[in-house]
Amino acid sequence: MLDLFTIFTKGGIVLWCFRNTSEFFAPSVNALIRNVLMQERGGNSSYSHDKLTLQYKLDNEFELIFVVAFQKILQLAYIDKFLSDIHLEFRDKYKNVLTAQGREFNNFEFGDEFQRLLKDAESWGKMQSAMPRQMRSYEESNKSKKTVASMIERKGGDSVPKKTVKIVEAEKENVKEDDEINGNTDTEILMARKKLADKFTKKTPADKKKSPKSPIEKKNTKANRVWELNGNFKEKDAVTLDRCKDRPEDIKSDYTDSDRMVGQLIGNIKDIEVEDESSEDESDEYEEDTNQNYAKPKVAAKKTGGMLSMFKGLVGSKSISTDDMQPALDKLRDHLITKNVATDIAQKLCESVASKLEGKVLGTFDTIATTVKTTLNDSLVQILSPKRRIDILRDCLEAKKNRRPYVMTFCGVNGVGKSTNLAKICFWLIENNLNVLIAACDTFRAGAVEQLRTHCRHLNSLHPKEKHNGREMVQLYEKGYGKDAAGIAMEAIRFAKDSGIDIVLVDTAGRMQDNEPLMRALAKLIKINEPDLVLFVGEALVGNEAVDQLVKFNQALADYSSMDNPHVIDGIVLTKFDTIDDKVGAAISMTYITGQPIVFVGTGQTYTDLKALNARAVVHALMK
Ligand code: GDP
Repeated sequence: MLDLFTIFTKGGIVLWCFRNTSEFFAPSVNALIRNVLMQERGGNSSYSHDKLTLQYKLDNEFELIFVVAFQKILQLAYIDKFLSDIHLEFRDKYKNVLTAQGREFNNFEFGDEFQRLLKDAESWGKMQSAMPRQMRSYEESNKSKKTVASMIERKGGDSVPKKTVKIVEAEKENVKEDDEINGNTDTEILMARKKLADKFTKKTPADKKKSPKSPIEKKNTKANRVWELNGNFKEKDAVTLDRCKDRPEDIKSDYTDSDRMVGQLIGNIKDIEVEDESSEDESDEYEEDTNQNYAKPKVAAKKTGGMLSMFKGLVGSKSISTDDMQPALDKLRDHLITKNVATDIAQKLCESVASKLEGKVLGTFDTIATTVKTTLNDSLVQILSPKRRIDILRDCLEAKKNRRPYVMTFCGVNGVGKSTNLAKICFWLIENNLNVLIAACDTFRAGAVEQLRTHCRHLNSLHPKEKHNGREMVQLYEKGYGKDAAGIAMEAIRFAKDSGIDIVLVDTAGRMQDNEPLMRALAKLIKINEPDLVLFVGEALVGNEAVDQLVKFNQALADYSSMDNPHVIDGIVLTKFDTIDDKVGAAISMTYITGQPIVFVGTGQTYTDLKALNARAVVHALMK
């Protein structure tokens, strides 16, 4: 069924090739290279040319390109998997040759492996199509239609799904399991959310003093040790720890409704969806571009009253000059800045729009609007495309093959959602049948260990060991409070290796980006434990403050590691995306400034509120 499979270097040397027919494929492959690969887009994608679909995978480490071609009319469900399998096998088999100095490319015998993997992938594809359509029924459900906007609406209470498993429960329960829960109305939830928002937006020193957390922080670790010994919280502590006071009464009982969660995060994390309300006009506005992973605007925005209306004045029969555009561009820049886009990035985006419009005769508003949108989309895709693609599931499997755990470290300031999003990521991993050890290395914040313990219990009850051949999917490695975090992480990693655990998630204590001793301690933890991935957790809610935190964390890790090639931040987890409405600027700035990808986006307080960021959602928010 496959017409062609070829593996070649980015320099254009063909390493291996399989051809099923005597047809000449060079024009299609050349078109793929010219139209897609030259734009340096990473990852896995497909492209159509003549009668063929070409799907490709890039390996940035070894600078390889894997291309498979088959007839357009075919729908081959196994191609993604097959490409990944071939990629891994080829890399593993030839990694020594590929990394050798002055590498010589000849003699790549790969025919047997290719046939074997093809057979496996085909049978896998058949199995998939024979399986009941579980995922589709989820896609059709209302929950799958949850959008960034609907999450925000949730604050008002209208669209609160009656039954959701709130992660805040983890915090509640770690405080006091049988604590009586007040019946809360939606208004109370709204107020709690508002309080949360206020907490993060008004960070004056006076507020900090008043913050409910401070008494515990002041007491420091001694208070924690008392809890450890007694195993109980005092009522006062329980109240202090409860940062999400209000919750609907039905949450507790809903928790057991595991069917609603299990099976939702299988495979790669799904992209953030664009608003429902847009479905009438906006869904038509985008067409899937088979060359790329994202959608392109097709026709102009119908809402001429929206952001694009500032370009109305350019409609006419003469060619557009820089002077004509300037007022509209100034407005565009200001508009982008109101969305928290950093000024220099806003400027850059305006320049790209100007260069596309200059000298053109655009007779209708539609053509102008389309040009502006397409240009912004293209520029944002470029900004948001990371220097390096992070494929956690693949890397976890590779580590597993090498009989070692894959280690991820989470860092960031206090209260940004480190533990909560660590738990969501943990849920995603166990959904993908990987078992996890959580290393409780926040040995400082009162209640941090208990919070993780509760998450572990919840996660294990969603994925009981009976369903996993008696294997407990999540375990907690904890040594209480006040101990050296780097040492605990090291012991945890060793324990995971000895027990054959797939992944270690290291939760670290929150610290301010300017606190030198604590930043040194984090650099030490990373230096001695050499995690595979260091994730910075930042909240979208604080806008450009998050950018500042990220830059300073990165700098501190570089400065304090005393290594020539320090391990700095590899990726970003952007939390509370559901609370920022359309102020997506911080997301853009974070990737723009550090070049690191936003690997996960936290979009709420349930285990399934984890998404991937895509340019389309960002453009959509900017257009409002
Ligand atoms: P940590 O101190 O960084 O570990 O922060 P926590 O994990 O304890 O989270 C702090 C608060 O943020 C908790 O109330 C979480 O429920 C909340 N939170 C975390 N992630 C999100 C998110 O993506 N959206 C919303 N709305 N709240 C979140």
